[in-house]
Amino acid sequence: MNERIVWLVLVALCVGVSSALAEEGETVVAPLKALILSGRNNHDWQTTTPCLKRVLEESGRFTADVTEEPASLDAAALEPYDVLIDNWTAFPEMTGRQWGSTAEAAVAGFVRGGKGMVSVHAATAGFLDWPDFLKLGICTWGEQSGHSARHVFNIEIVDAEHPITKGLHDFATARDELYHRLDLHPPADVIARTYSAKSVGGTGRYEPMVVTKAFGDGRCVYVAMGHDVEAMEGVGFRAVLPRSAEWAATGQVTLAPPADLPPTRIQAVVVTGGHGFDQEAFPKLFEGAPLNVEFAQQEDDSELFEDIADWPHDVIVLYNMGQRISETRRAHFRELLDNGVGLVVLHHAVAAYNKWPEYQKIIGTAYYLEDTTLDGATHPKSTYAHDVDFALHIEEPEHPVTRGVEDFTVHDETYNGMTYDAANKVLVTTDHATSERPIAWVRNYGPARVCVIQVGHGPHVFTDANYKKLVQQAIAWTARRNEK
Ligand SMILES: [Zn+2]
Ligand SMILES: [Zn+2]
Repeated sequence: MNERIVWLVLVALCVGVSSALAEEGETVVAPLKALILSGRNNHDWQTTTPCLKRVLEESGRFTADVTEEPASLDAAALEPYDVLIDNWTAFPEMTGRQWGSTAEAAVAGFVRGGKGMVSVHAATAGFLDWPDFLKLGICTWGEQSGHSARHVFNIEIVDAEHPITKGLHDFATARDELYHRLDLHPPADVIARTYSAKSVGGTGRYEPMVVTKAFGDGRCVYVAMGHDVEAMEGVGFRAVLPRSAEWAATGQVTLAPPADLPPTRIQAVVVTGGHGFDQEAFPKLFEGAPLNVEFAQQEDDSELFEDIADWPHDVIVLYNMGQRISETRRAHFRELLDNGVGLVVLHHAVAAYNKWPEYQKIIGTAYYLEDTTLDGATHPKSTYAHDVDFALHIEEPEHPVTRGVEDFTVHDETYNGMTYDAANKVLVTTDHATSERPIAWVRNYGPARVCVIQVGHGPHVFTDANYKKLVQQAIAWTARRNEK
């Protein structure tokens, strides 16, 4: 065969193969058509709308057009499309029905007739006087609504069987704005949610993040993520938006879950109360780690453990010295550990809950606030010494809690006259005369990992690189996040 014939044969083969595939209808799928409603938003729609278009099109499942005049829409204009993506709001105007009756009827009729609509972030802030919009938008901005400071937060999949979330694990967002106390219009299904930490201006409760609702024969989705381009470029948003749009359009999701969905950040609650500390310096201890920290100052020594029904934290960090803990709270505390929640105990928290013997078993030590007789043995009151310069020696440099931490010297407080459980695996020691030898140890309590670090009066240690590393690695280890 000459070259020309070879070429013709190859072309014929290729045409044959592609038409065979098209007939089977498996590999050639016509893209869905999305229309993004834009042109006004209290957010930077000039950058977020092109980003939404890009995210949809780069999924491979969509072509996307943009209208900057939603008020000009009518039924005929929407006819070619499968799904509407709403990125429009007149906020702070919450009423006024700025689209007008023709566009309203077209949009509602489009979805009611069996197609779909996805509203992104602020798009549901408005149209409170348009009854259908409360259903289309699902979660609207109300008088109590607000948002946290921008941060990286965790999306928790609530319904792992929904087509939008199926195959996605819980994940961390890009830096985004976490909406709270939106007015959710039932019936609706919250398929993903986020714990909104008070420490970043949130509510201390779970907030809906991806919500679905039926509307006539069609489907609506509200995606609360997506404050700006940085937020929309997160792997999670880039997965959730097209999956939501595909489900809204068709009731199914064919898009594969991303392989690189980021793991969640560790959510830790830091318990204080019952002992003073340097309030300004102490939070620096947790800075720089991929951690979300909620500070929980206890007014009644242990109210954190009163209701654990919707417990959001991976790790409890105790830096408190309150003594009161009721039977109910004791049971809840143990239940959390039984569920595998990690426990890190810092400094004076070894002397918390002194009248609860099980607490001392949990942490593997007892600091005696008074002369104590226990199991036939008498223990004199434990002692402490302030402003001691003492050297710390790393006993187990390969352990995930101490890895990369050098022997170091601190200016802090020492404790003496304590007792220790023989099962503690001691990681850090000191030879200073005013101190007990064990400074940091790990142990297990049922399925829970426990790490106790006796140093930590502060404020000097709170910014000490080695101490910070020790504490942050202890949090990661008790959360089972640094196994390597
Ligand atoms: Zn925003
Ligand atoms: Zn102290």
